[in-house]
Amino acid sequence: MHDQYLAATIASPRGGKPNRREVSLTASVSSSPESLAPRRWIAHLDMDAFFASVELLKYPELRGEAVVIGGGRLQQPVLQPDGTRQFARMRDYVGRGVVTTSTYAARAFGVFSAMGIMKAARLAPDSILLPADFEAYREYSTRFKQAVANLAPVIQNVGIDEIYIDLSEHGDGAPAFAARLKAAVFDATGLSCSIGLAPNKLLAKICSDLEKPDGLTILHPEDIATRVWPLPAKKINGIGPKATAKLAAMGIVTIGELAQADLGMLRTQFGDLYTGWLHQAALGIDDRPVQTSRETKSVSRETTFERDLQVVRDRAVLSEKLESLCTRVAGDLDKHALAGRTVGIKLRFEDFSTVTRDITLPSATADAAAILRATRDCLRRVPFEKKIRLLGVRISTLCDPSQSTRQAPAQAELFPAL
Ligand SMILES: [Mg+2]
Repeated sequence: MHDQYLAATIASPRGGKPNRREVSLTASVSSSPESLAPRRWIAHLDMDAFFASVELLKYPELRGEAVVIGGGRLQQPVLQPDGTRQFARMRDYVGRGVVTTSTYAARAFGVFSAMGIMKAARLAPDSILLPADFEAYREYSTRFKQAVANLAPVIQNVGIDEIYIDLSEHGDGAPAFAARLKAAVFDATGLSCSIGLAPNKLLAKICSDLEKPDGLTILHPEDIATRVWPLPAKKINGIGPKATAKLAAMGIVTIGELAQADLGMLRTQFGDLYTGWLHQAALGIDDRPVQTSRETKSVSRETTFERDLQVVRDRAVLSEKLESLCTRVAGDLDKHALAGRTVGIKLRFEDFSTVTRDITLPSATADAAAILRATRDCLRRVPFEKKIRLLGVRISTLCDPSQSTRQAPAQAELFPAL
């Protein structure tokens, strides 16, 4: 703590001995390599109850109702002769599906993501149950990202419903600009989002969650002690359930308690590296830039079998495994709002020799069935003489679906006759 005290004393604008709060706050500024650079403004934009809100756009009559979106095969709404739709109710559900997400009205009953649908049905039996429609979610994801990209160039994609945006160039105008982004997203989609605007990504991410839905939360460095420190430590992205439990066992529950925790004690539990990160995070320090280039080059899933499989005799098992791998790859693409053009398979045989084959599709896809078809084309080109111990599916040549739509007008201009 001594270094920070020193830094704080030097950096303290009013001079003199700073109180405890100033120590940490000024330390967070002075220990940053960017302390001499202009102040950064980073926005984290998160769509509100995204999947559920898209469903409400499709079925406006459900507005205000408790609606649960489930994974797997669920009943589609049935159009009645009188033009109204009949929806499935939670209480009628039998099966092992899980909740993908739910509207705020359903959350009020205690229904949350990853809960079994039958368990959720006991909490909210009259809620409406809808199947997930990833095609629609991707479409709206593209629309909101495009709306933001039209106004702000420095965007980092972090998921189907969230992005970071660097608004530093707007200086004192950044909060007003963030409000403009919210309006642009609403105009493009009819959906609300929440924005956290803060000096870095870590704080912005925490803030976007503070005033949901339709929130705009602006955090200045001097607000960290009053607005961030009272929050539970698990609100920091990177402090998972295990770390939360360990911290709780040490009597550390809030971010403020973490900021003031003894580093030696933390090190005994978490090691040097994670302790250093924990401490910085609790002080609100994060120098990571908004990265516009995509890091993900490919998405893949593979499975090693419990026993080596024979292609003719174990055809059914192999087909099922292949289908499940493709579904998981498609799920990964969905999660990151990506699509890919090159689909590949990997096979490892009983003698550990490995074969890969790939195929490039005419256009990018994130559809499990299209990926499966492509993997079958690849498999036709493999000689099967040995038993198989591992099967993998990979998709590469990735693109953000919002970028492929952005290129469309340019191509139309190049070929006006088409
Ligand atoms: Mg969201």
